[in-house]
Amino acid sequence: MVCEGHKINESERFTWNFREAHRGRAVNLFSRLQHWRTQRQLRRRRIPAQLWRQVTETALGHYRLTARELQRLRNLASLFLQQKIINGAGGQEVDDTMRAVIAAQACLLILNLDLDWFGGWREIIVYPGSFVVDRIDHEDPGAAGLGVVHEQRAVLDGEAWGRGPVILAWDDARPDAHRHGEAFNVILHEFAHKLDMLNGTANGMPPLHPGMDQQRWTRVFTRAFDRLHAQIEQQQLGSIDPYGAEDPGEFFAVATEAFFQTPRQLYRECPDVYTQLAQFYRQDPRQRGTGCDYPDGDSSDAG
Ligand SMILES: [Zn+2]
Repeated sequence: MVCEGHKINESERFTWNFREAHRGRAVNLFSRLQHWRTQRQLRRRRIPAQLWRQVTETALGHYRLTARELQRLRNLASLFLQQKIINGAGGQEVDDTMRAVIAAQACLLILNLDLDWFGGWREIIVYPGSFVVDRIDHEDPGAAGLGVVHEQRAVLDGEAWGRGPVILAWDDARPDAHRHGEAFNVILHEFAHKLDMLNGTANGMPPLHPGMDQQRWTRVFTRAFDRLHAQIEQQQLGSIDPYGAEDPGEFFAVATEAFFQTPRQLYRECPDVYTQLAQFYRQDPRQRGTGCDYPDGDSSDAG
């Protein structure tokens, strides 16, 4: 028996059903097309197996990624190289190995995110070594109307522009640039700035995922930033590079380096920062037992 009050117009019901079904089909179709397009791109331009093996050994070995993670990283890096242009400058030649190393390390950050996180820009420029940039800062003229222009010359190992290129010094970016156990990685650093700048300037807070608490992020990072300043005053060095004391944007970038390069040490020293980064990157490198990290509870031979 159908109760009078629950009766609905059959044509409305059909329309409603049709729309729902249609919407579902459209979404399905779109994601299938997307998937098909991605697979086609990968079939055509996947990083060749031999080159990938070489990159895995020279630039990724110490992250101890699982076979599944390496497979995903290879796919991401291959797609990344189809979307980006990597040019040499200052006489630097860029070969396929360098391209693959840069792509693989950049994509380590987004291993469990998505390639869209690196959308909206196209170029990576590689210099042989440190490069010099001239900066001009205009000081607020204030009430007296006396605006001052400061010109600064800076020597950089890397730089990231909001909607523009990432610039790297290969001397610093090459896989053998730093000793084992050091939390330095200019590629991770500059691409972390890129993620940070997705929601404006590099202020140390990238767009957080639903469910993450912005106030908590601010609290945790502000506390750690202040602690780094205090450590520098007392000449105590930890896993976070003192360069992070420059500003919150640099702090996020160097904390990201430590998160991937020396995760156990970062967790021991700053568990709150580690936890926030693990939520943001959706990775837990500490569990992988990163090769250049020190075992839990033993940092005696650090350095
Ligand atoms: Zn930086």
